[in-house]
Amino acid sequence: MQRLDWSALRIAARNAAAMAYAPYSGLHVGAAGLSSSGTVFTGCNVENVSYGLTLCAECGLVSALRQAGEDSLVAVAAVDGDGNCLTPCGRCRQLLLEHGGPSMLIDALPVPVALSELLPGAFDAASLPSRSEDQA
Ligand SMILES: [Zn+2]
Repeated sequence: MQRLDWSALRIAARNAAAMAYAPYSGLHVGAAGLSSSGTVFTGCNVENVSYGLTLCAECGLVSALRQAGEDSLVAVAAVDGDGNCLTPCGRCRQLLLEHGGPSMLIDALPVPVALSELLPGAFDAASLPSRSEDQA
């Protein structure tokens, strides 16, 4: 695997944050993820007046990843509009788990950490009954 360029990921995330739609919280968030193919995908948060329908930057990132026909992230950085590191919210930790696995690196202070450190005991596909158990 190529060496992770966290600085480039953070810059891409900050550029994405500039495109955020955040009229309610004022918190502009951008996320950038490096895929296993070496491509960087980005997303920004898109708020909604209902608040509950707000899309986090990581949602846009995963959507862009899938739209490109990819499904495997190896590293993700999220920042606010000033470039300060933000760790993903609980929902996004679960979202990212499905598209990068527990060993995916997440930018955090003081150093990036594996997603499994941010989401211990995660609910994953192994938590579901197998189809054969459904039919038994
Ligand atoms: Zn989130």
